[in-house]
Amino acid sequence: MKRTLAVSLALFCAVFLIPLLTAGQALLQEQNEEPPEVFASEPPPSVMVETPAPSPLPAGPVITMLIGGTEQEIPLREFLCGALAAEMPALYPGEALKAQAVAIRTFALYAQKHPYHETARLCDNFECCLAFSPLSGREGDWGGQFEELSLNILNAVDETAGIVILYEGEPIEAVFFSATDGRTRSAAEVWGAEVPYLQSVDSAFDTEAPNGPRGHGVGMSQFGARQLALAGLSYEEILQWYYTDVEVGRVG
Ligand SMILES: [Zn+2]
Repeated sequence: MKRTLAVSLALFCAVFLIPLLTAGQALLQEQNEEPPEVFASEPPPSVMVETPAPSPLPAGPVITMLIGGTEQEIPLREFLCGALAAEMPALYPGEALKAQAVAIRTFALYAQKHPYHETARLCDNFECCLAFSPLSGREGDWGGQFEELSLNILNAVDETAGIVILYEGEPIEAVFFSATDGRTRSAAEVWGAEVPYLQSVDSAFDTEAPNGPRGHGVGMSQFGARQLALAGLSYEEILQWYYTDVEVGRVG
């Protein structure tokens, strides 16, 4: 069984991973590279999606995503801000937002190596991959709080730039959900496949979630992350609470 798995893994690596390494590397350069030209004057990230690119080549690392069924390339920072704002209330504590930003970045990096779709690595259906909507589109919802809430999102993304969740040196499939009934579920329990870093852990504070349990219950609880942040835990501690035996850092 183990040998078969090893052979399958080797084949998988040869066929899929090697061509994708370049994409993964580009993703990790978020922190190290000079900011792309489009970021230089610090417009709200949403402006970038609507502004026609000056050259056919993207200015920095990009995420290929199916948005409403259409494949689009989104600059990484724009993607992270839009997904974070779509996935977690922007009024959640800073450390919870940072934990969510790192989980989204890790999930996207994992998808570079393990695409969820044939034509794009991710889609914007929260029941399939993760929610995404450009940050600028929040102006209507957020009204007078738009600047403050956008800043919460941008800070969480920028203050964790390049940081991901690693298991044995590899980015994890950093799944998350809204709230559970007091404990998270293991991947084996819900999806039938054992994943060492997706185990059932205590999440008792979730019972205070206003809307009750929502989501598959595997990985990080968003409401639990909020409660842990309010209790004084750092984003690294929150991630290590929900993902078993992981490290939080840069790919080495
Ligand atoms: Zn999907």
